[in-house]
Amino acid sequence: MPQSTFELFDIDSLLSDEERAMRDTVRSFVEAKVSPHLAQWYEEAAIPARDLARELGGLGVLGMHLEGYGCAGTSATAYGLACLELEAADSGLRSLVSVQGSLAMYAIWQWGSEEHRERWLPAMAAGEAIGCFGLTEPDFGSNPAGMRTRAVADGDGWVLNGTKMWITNGSVADVAVVWAQTEEGIRGFVVPTDTAGFSAPEITRKMSLRASVTSELVLEDVRLPADAAFPEVRGLKGPLSCLNEARFGIVFGALGAARTCLDTAIAYAGEREIFDRSLASYQLTQAKLADMSLELGKGMLLALHLARKKDAGTLSSEQVSLGKLNNVREAIDIARECRTILGAAGITLEYPVMRHANNLESVLTYEGTSEVHQLVIGRALTGEAAFR
Ligand code: FAD
Repeated sequence: MPQSTFELFDIDSLLSDEERAMRDTVRSFVEAKVSPHLAQWYEEAAIPARDLARELGGLGVLGMHLEGYGCAGTSATAYGLACLELEAADSGLRSLVSVQGSLAMYAIWQWGSEEHRERWLPAMAAGEAIGCFGLTEPDFGSNPAGMRTRAVADGDGWVLNGTKMWITNGSVADVAVVWAQTEEGIRGFVVPTDTAGFSAPEITRKMSLRASVTSELVLEDVRLPADAAFPEVRGLKGPLSCLNEARFGIVFGALGAARTCLDTAIAYAGEREIFDRSLASYQLTQAKLADMSLELGKGMLLALHLARKKDAGTLSSEQVSLGKLNNVREAIDIARECRTILGAAGITLEYPVMRHANNLESVLTYEGTSEVHQLVIGRALTGEAAFR
């Protein structure tokens, strides 16, 4: 009887009953409500983001690892498993949830005032309000410290000017967390997207993450009240703490994309007759499958180790870099190798493999590029910072 990679590794024995139940709930939701539509959403580069957000809110996955304010308050491990199941469908779906929960909601939960939390978190947890997170700018991605967006104190409020780029959920967001330079260093601002001077044109012609909204944020003399700023946090510590949360979700999520590719390739190889035998019966195919399965299983063991550390409060940001770098890099290799097994059929949207491979190009770049994570790990190993 064939076994899946996670069965071979007996991953279930590392999960609690509760964790398995939550994973199965998310998987059933994804298979019933999302997966059947993905090829079309991807092809048309259009997703019903609002409806999806409400359904995901009903499922309880938006900000699920946060406590209070209508959030589920689950373990980090449960959150990781949910990310894996969401990304097994599409990285765009997981991106919607990551940006909502780990970037926008986490920023407000961790750094916002009590008024910010009460105003936004219950609505965001329910999927009634969508959030985005504006850090990257056209000229400052890996080096956000150079950002040009500026907030100037003016009377009893603030005036913001600048442009943010590549912002997930931007055009559909009700609230944007925007990071800007001030006289006291970088600060975060809670910006309702109906504020005069704010616009969020969608970025089109993407070849990756097509089932996800990606936008520019344009701030032209956006006037905000004094209490729109996060009260305490100053400098890059604020945005970087949020990125660390979202990267953790990617450590698991990327494995979901890889799992789907591998399952698809195994099923295809079993059915495809080549030279009068099934493709799965050839040693070369089995060598590919075995190597991919090893990397997928090892990636899962790493993810679970990091998750347990996060739940214990002992996870460092360098360790998150280890997981993000390894698991996304291996996932993209798996997706590409699976594509070879599907031959020409692998380049179409009839199968999810090329869609996942293309999506993973974005995942490799956002939330810290592979090179940036290599530099983080290099600094940990040598004590030398080689970023500049
Ligand atoms: P650059 O920083 O210009 O990097 C270009 C290349 O240079 C990369 O290979 C990089 O690794 C390399 N490099 C950089 N520094 C070094 C160095 N010191 N040494 C050697 N090589 C180096 N941002 C947000 O704020 N919010 C979002 O919601 C969001 N969503 C996104 C969604 C998508 C689909 C994508 C593609 C991006 C998103 N981003 C978002 C932006 C993302 O975080 C940035 O693209 C990323 O940080 C890289 O920045 P960059 O694209 O400007 O590349």
